[in-house]
Amino acid sequence: MGPLQSDLGEERCLEIITRAAELGVNFFDTAEGYKTQPYLGKYLKNKRSGIVVATKSHAKTDDEMAVSVEKSLLELQTDYIDIYHLHSVRDCPKVFEERKGALRKLNQLKQEQIIKAVGLATHNVKVVNAAAERDDVDILFVLINKAGMGIVDGTTAEMVEAIEKAAHAGKGLYVMKALAGGNLLPDYHEALSWARRLEGISSVAVGVVSIKELLQNLKHFGLKTPETENVSPDITIKEKKLHILERLCTGCATCVEACPNNALFLEGEKAKINHENCILCGYCSPHCPLFLIRMV
Ligand code: SF4
Ligand code: SF4
Repeated sequence: MGPLQSDLGEERCLEIITRAAELGVNFFDTAEGYKTQPYLGKYLKNKRSGIVVATKSHAKTDDEMAVSVEKSLLELQTDYIDIYHLHSVRDCPKVFEERKGALRKLNQLKQEQIIKAVGLATHNVKVVNAAAERDDVDILFVLINKAGMGIVDGTTAEMVEAIEKAAHAGKGLYVMKALAGGNLLPDYHEALSWARRLEGISSVAVGVVSIKELLQNLKHFGLKTPETENVSPDITIKEKKLHILERLCTGCATCVEACPNNALFLEGEKAKINHENCILCGYCSPHCPLFLIRMV
């Protein structure tokens, strides 16, 4: 819902967050980089108890992490954060060397009870395996989906195995991209159910961009109210729009070559979309080596 993707604006974001909490959602995942902390903060300001908040930072050093956490506390309008992750942990095992200062700071803040748990958000099988063996990481936020889309260094089976290993080591786990950035919407129920059945998984983070999507998701998760019973049955790709995380695009042009409809082109070494030509077929998404193409 944030400025980097659907950019709904503060009012609509707050409306969705408030409605979600009223209907029983008690776990919200945000990040410094998503720029959605202030929206969630508007809600938390008036109602903090009973809500679990996870956020994340790309910080590498002690000092950078101290600044990030301070900013998060301010934006989230709270005096503690339940889960704080190192964001985008992709390079293993070097990450624990390169970002040791940031990890140390999070553990220090945990001692001070400003943070309740220290985590890593990752798309990488090796990171999950390595984190399972460390005492300074409590929670893992892991990319997985039944199609294996977006896993940087392995297969779905290898990620499932790593998740099970981490769970047996006592780590808390929740997952992202169960719908593969919208690409699995045609298989919505089975894709979500598949992720929810994984051993060791406590929660599935699902992005929503409207009250209707919220209700559809809550219906899938078993909420029975007149609103969820009457909501139209499925979130479809037709309601979505293709989005490229341009900031991270390297301009490799693999997606441009993969599109059968001439809907993608390069401009200034960044992939761009001609929405008039795009039929949302999803062919391009699996071709991006960085998993930057999503349906939002
Ligand atoms: S979704 Fe299909 S039509 Fe749209 S850009 Fe990707 S490959 Fe092309
Ligand atoms: S495949 Fe990914 S990185 Fe390459 S141009 Fe397309 S969006 Fe950018």
